[in-house]
Amino acid sequence: MTLTEEIIKLKREKNAIVLAHNYQRPEIQDIADYVGDSIGLSIKAMEEKEAEIIVFSAVDFMAESATILNPDKKVLLPTLGARCPMAQMLTVDEIKRWKVHYPLVPVVLYVNTLASAKAYCDICCTSANAVEVVNSLDAETVLFGPDHNLAEYVSRKTGKTIIPIPERGFCPTHLLFQPEDVQVLKMKHPDAVVMVHPECSLEMQDIADFIGSTSQMCKYARSNKAKRFIVATERGIIHHLEKENPGKQFIPAYKDAVCPNMKLNTLERLYRALKEEKYLITVPEPVAKRARKALEKMVELRI
Ligand code: SF4
Repeated sequence: MTLTEEIIKLKREKNAIVLAHNYQRPEIQDIADYVGDSIGLSIKAMEEKEAEIIVFSAVDFMAESATILNPDKKVLLPTLGARCPMAQMLTVDEIKRWKVHYPLVPVVLYVNTLASAKAYCDICCTSANAVEVVNSLDAETVLFGPDHNLAEYVSRKTGKTIIPIPERGFCPTHLLFQPEDVQVLKMKHPDAVVMVHPECSLEMQDIADFIGSTSQMCKYARSNKAKRFIVATERGIIHHLEKENPGKQFIPAYKDAVCPNMKLNTLERLYRALKEEKYLITVPEPVAKRARKALEKMVELRI
């Protein structure tokens, strides 16, 4: 039996489903029951009534969110070390420090934060709904973290005063994209449409034909008549885009833009996770209760 067949067998025996982020390895995406972005995956987990085990093939903060939103289910992360460095950049102490200076200003946190930080925010957002979440608040100034580029993007789109916390939080993978590389690619493929993730620099955002989250990129590519796209986000998404759009070409804006943390999950580790039911992700209930409120507020907005 191949490893893939073993995983399918274990899924059936243990009544488990596999949810995989768009940045996962192609072979994991191919075996997953659902592939999507962080919030899409968590909502999928909430809607899942039958499964007893959810293997969340992604990084720490996403599995934490799934656990918070699905307290009755066993949520497993295949690799314990699959941690998002951006999520580690915002601590509770840092949030408290900013709140001393801006006690009445609401705190909006990107889902790419640890549960402990989420417990200290008013509402969460994703890169897909950050603009709408900030616009939904009756406030002209907002504390926003941890991604500085997403904060700038939201500031441009909403016209509100967005204070980034920490001052320069970033995604190391999305910082790899440079406008010069895209310009060279455009010389070779002048007809290509440029899609850029808002975690990229403002210089990258400025040369984009479309700025959006991974799920928004997928939607845009499906509905756009163009035949060729230059893609500025983690290259795992190329597999998803190619599967959904036969006949269209997707070119990574920088071929080495790989998130090493996302890629820690392998088929072998996924198999061990299912077999040994590890690594179980738990969040202490007092923290989960507060973080759940912030996540549910976002989900309720349905944007
Ligand atoms: S791509 Fe960036 S934000 Fe996403 S998990 Fe990797 S380091 Fe974190």
